[in-house]
Amino acid sequence: MSNNIQSVRGMNDCLPEMSDTWQAFESIVRDWLRRYGYREMRTPILEQTHLFKRAIGEVTDIVEKEMYTFVDELNGESLTLRPEGTASAVRAVIQHNLLYDGGKRLWYAGPMFRHERPQKGRYRQFHQVGVEALGFAGPDTDAELIVMCADLWKRLGIAPSLQINTLGDPESRQRHRAKLIAYFEAHQDALDEDAKRRLHSNPLRILDSKNPAMQALNDAAPRLMDEIDADALAHFDALQAILRDNGIAFEINPRLVRGLDYYNRTVFEWVTDQLGAQGTVCAGGRYDGLIEQLGGKPAPAAGFAMGIERLLALMETGSVALATPVPDAYIVHAGDAAQRYAWQVAAALRGAGLDTVLHCGGGSFKSQMKKADASRARYALIIGDDEAAAQQVTLKPLRDGAEQIRAELARAIDYLKR
Ligand code: ATP
Ligand code: MG
Repeated sequence: MSNNIQSVRGMNDCLPEMSDTWQAFESIVRDWLRRYGYREMRTPILEQTHLFKRAIGEVTDIVEKEMYTFVDELNGESLTLRPEGTASAVRAVIQHNLLYDGGKRLWYAGPMFRHERPQKGRYRQFHQVGVEALGFAGPDTDAELIVMCADLWKRLGIAPSLQINTLGDPESRQRHRAKLIAYFEAHQDALDEDAKRRLHSNPLRILDSKNPAMQALNDAAPRLMDEIDADALAHFDALQAILRDNGIAFEINPRLVRGLDYYNRTVFEWVTDQLGAQGTVCAGGRYDGLIEQLGGKPAPAAGFAMGIERLLALMETGSVALATPVPDAYIVHAGDAAQRYAWQVAAALRGAGLDTVLHCGGGSFKSQMKKADASRARYALIIGDDEAAAQQVTLKPLRDGAEQIRAELARAIDYLKR
């Protein structure tokens, strides 16, 4: 046992090798979102606890047992590390009146915190990219959100599959809820502990159970689909028509209900069977009531969030690797005049847009060349007092068998840029 301080359980470091992959992923994501007219927003990682209680729902897994909540001792305020991004996004949209001139397409990315049992694909600090379309009521917006996901999967070289469902509107959910409670009450003996606890607080969540022993009972339960009214059904049909038009394959999963209370009408998940139990890489839907519920002027909304760790893990199972950047040049130098010149050369290369590592710490040419090689740079740029006196550099290719050349600095820069 070592006494060294370790990171908090379930919270991971992102080391440079991995960080290259994250940056490549993030840059693909940023390009993709710009292509669809979505704009980034950044909100604080800490919010007042009651924001999440009100938005996500008091009897959800997240609020009941997954939140990092503490009292700010300076003023007694209860604060929570954000467990998801939609509540914060909607809070900010209301606070800054962003919908005053019509709908907004927004996105955010960053760490989220949930106190869950850590396992592969499930962490206590994890990262999401969230996309929200606020102020749009139609099924065309639901379809846009789904179609753009499909486009991203292509860019990432992955192929999760799409499940969709409709939860209908609050009145049909109320009717369904009453029927569900009656059904599960009639089958008390077959309920597991979770189901018993949820029976009167959140019976819809029983249907989301991952317990195989609950499957048969859940399969035969009253179906929400049978309660959904004509408007909501038409919305769902229109969504499906646009998906078909755009060649998006989907499966209707009547048991898809989502773990957050704010959803209505469309819900969807992108799932894979290649990541074991943590197979949902992206999830979302419509949440028309949330803006009003958080004190804003009523406005419809829809969105989704994807789990970056799970997406990167899925990419690892496929053949598409995200590029790791390497330096263009590693400058080695020996001698006083050479060292002074090396600093100028490094500044000139960087000014010309070349990624350049300047050797630090002295040592023989031989030991410096080993460092150059280990840096994975394309070229070693060698400067001795000789070169310094002539204001030249020697370029040694490190990645192919090409000839070493000696040249004026300007010509060397041209050469490196080719
Ligand atoms: P799950 O059923 O796996 O717990 P969820 O319904 O709680 O997921 P959402 O709140 O919808 O998840 O979050 C959207 C996405 O964020 C998930 O589909 C998943 O990819 C990712 N995600 C959620 N919780 C975690 C976690 N603890 N660790 C890693 N990724 C997560
Ligand atoms: Mg969860």
